[in-house]
Amino acid sequence: MTTEKELQEALERARQAALRVLHQGRVATYIPELGKADPNLFAMSVHLLDGTKASIGDTDRSFSMQSVSKVFSLAAAMHAKCEDLFAKVSVEPSGDAFHSIVLLEEEEGMPRNPFVNAGAIAISNRLPGTTAKARFEYLRRFLGDMCGEHPPEMDSNVWLSETNTGHRNRALAHFMQHWQVIEDADGTIDTYFRQCAISVTAKSLARYGLFLANKGVDPLTEKVVISAEENKMLLALMTTCGLYDAVGQFAVDVGLPAKSGVSGGILAIVPGEMSIAAFGPALDGKGNSVGGIAALQSLSNELGLSLFN
Ligand code: GLN
Repeated sequence: MTTEKELQEALERARQAALRVLHQGRVATYIPELGKADPNLFAMSVHLLDGTKASIGDTDRSFSMQSVSKVFSLAAAMHAKCEDLFAKVSVEPSGDAFHSIVLLEEEEGMPRNPFVNAGAIAISNRLPGTTAKARFEYLRRFLGDMCGEHPPEMDSNVWLSETNTGHRNRALAHFMQHWQVIEDADGTIDTYFRQCAISVTAKSLARYGLFLANKGVDPLTEKVVISAEENKMLLALMTTCGLYDAVGQFAVDVGLPAKSGVSGGILAIVPGEMSIAAFGPALDGKGNSVGGIAALQSLSNELGLSLFN
């Protein structure tokens, strides 16, 4: 078991590793509000199952979850016992960019997995509630309840910015509605844009992810978030689909189930041990945080965290 001191030292070296590569990345600009982020920011927070925490860098700086929210919307849909959740969403890696429409056309509107945009939009459609806002509120309250805290807020500037520019995601939603994979494409896309705009910090993100490291039970509130079987599936999907078309390299370099987002957040899970959140808005060409990946690689190597050791 890692001590707090070892953890803090490992985090300092992870930060150094991140700072060396930040200049290689660029912030996302296709959602204009994300383009305002400072590419020099970096943060990492670790939360152990026993409540021990360690953090480094800009850990109180808030950012929108973006695609990291896809893990939580899937968990919320599982929590809500949505029936046949995977009847219209597959569980195979896509090998394509997160917003690609290519496979959707070839496969009659059935998304490859719940972590590409199309798949996440299909899952958002299944959250309890008949309106976009009600479905989003379910997710927000789900996050707050499991930790016994206030639900997180949405960054309305980010939401508005994606609402004004997210035509590609709208196309995915309407394409899926054409194939009757989802209903209410316009409402569903609003739920999805809202969930992507949920505001977190590296600290709060690591906290939200803790149940994933503990077989679906939040270790601090002892709430059963999802079943152990569902949790196993979520971690498997994170391992195989969590970083899109960079997931193979990430498995080699870091070796942990993880989910990234274009605001620069990455949530990584060490089953049975800890939840790790990294944040650095400078992204590589595949939309993943360069600093986040470098820091996770350093931490994983130093503490021997890879699942494949
Ligand atoms: N909201 C973003 C989008 O749909 C999320 C993508 C991401 O974080 N990879 O484009």
